[in-house]
Amino acid sequence: MAEVRTVAAGRVVSIHYTLREKDEVIDSSGGDEPMEYLHGAENIVPGLEEGLTGRSVGETLRVRVEPEKGYGRRDEQAVQQVPREAFPPDAEIEIGMQFLAEGPQGERIPVWIVAESQDEVTVDANHPLAGKVLDFEVSIAGVRDATPEELEHGHPHGDDCGHH
Ligand code: ZN
Repeated sequence: MAEVRTVAAGRVVSIHYTLREKDEVIDSSGGDEPMEYLHGAENIVPGLEEGLTGRSVGETLRVRVEPEKGYGRRDEQAVQQVPREAFPPDAEIEIGMQFLAEGPQGERIPVWIVAESQDEVTVDANHPLAGKVLDFEVSIAGVRDATPEELEHGHPHGDDCGHH
């Protein structure tokens, strides 16, 4: 079997990455172990996926991702004041906390607490990185063909895969 060296759809890619926003590090793969994802399956934001397409193992690159190809533009309508009584009395409310709210059709929507006052809590359904220009520094540690099962599930199955 020919060795796979370049990033393409249907391949599992291992990357080390550092994500900066305005020169501030906000996320990274951390540690020695690279993060694995399945290319072409929307495991990562579209702009980063585009930047990595066709690149080779061993390359380090910088990918700048505009909000449209990152976490989207901010929607100010998605910010809402909720009375504190709407939360269970023993609920811990902290700024930055994420929880699942119920949408109009009963669907679950992730929201983040962005502010609180004595009787109101402000929640925001925008992803915290919505509206931000993302600056990724990525090095490609490995590329391999995905297994049929990984392709079917749309994500890689690592050694410590505990989701099923
Ligand atoms: Zn799976």
